[in-house]
Amino acid sequence: MTSQRTRERLLGRLMEQGISNMEVLDVIRSTPRHIFLDEALSHRAYEDVALPIGFNQTISQPYVVARMTAAIIAGGPLNKVLEIGTGCGYQTAVIAQLAKSVYTVERIKPLLERARKNLKLLGLRNVEFKHSDGSGGWEGKGPFDAIITTAAPQQIPQELLAQLADGGRLVIPVGVENHQELRLIARQGKEFITEILDLVRFVPLLVGQVHH
Ligand code: SAH
Repeated sequence: MTSQRTRERLLGRLMEQGISNMEVLDVIRSTPRHIFLDEALSHRAYEDVALPIGFNQTISQPYVVARMTAAIIAGGPLNKVLEIGTGCGYQTAVIAQLAKSVYTVERIKPLLERARKNLKLLGLRNVEFKHSDGSGGWEGKGPFDAIITTAAPQQIPQELLAQLADGGRLVIPVGVENHQELRLIARQGKEFITEILDLVRFVPLLVGQVHH
């Protein structure tokens, strides 16, 4: 069992690092991150670090989840959100509590199934899952008010920009392993306005074949 104090310490850390959106902080406070981890690592669930989840993938660092979520929320109410890179579903669970519906795509089937189970356990039912290469977004479900990509391409796929609603926001790490920028792209009609939020390290966005 993780103590309430460890969880509060994480919240304090996020605030110190500049996360100020109360809605985001409240959701992170109430979302049990330990259920997304293997038993052997669950005692570290409330440290502000990325941790392995198998298949060479990681659960994102809480600060990064908070930062990305705050960036899309700042654009106004979220009706439809697309997430590329479900992983174990932690970021999915955070967004599902702040948006009307979430569409999430993952290329590694066992991870997608684990995420599905985790979200069910939390009683979050407003999420649709898809086992696929998500680099082309989710054709037919858009346009989305926001798109979050939790794996890094070297360049932003045009399809993601095309599936963004007018006024919508895309938050995405871009670059190679040791040098990635977390970018926020806001769509205004035909214009896309880019802001660089942070330097980050995500796993690469793999294009093509999926993992069964
Ligand atoms: N969102 C997760 C982080 C997952 S790590 C969290 O909250 O912790 C990034 C995930 O992106 C990995 O599971 C990886 O398999 C997935 N991924 C990489 N390339 C992808 C692609 N082209 N389409 C869908 N998922 C992809």
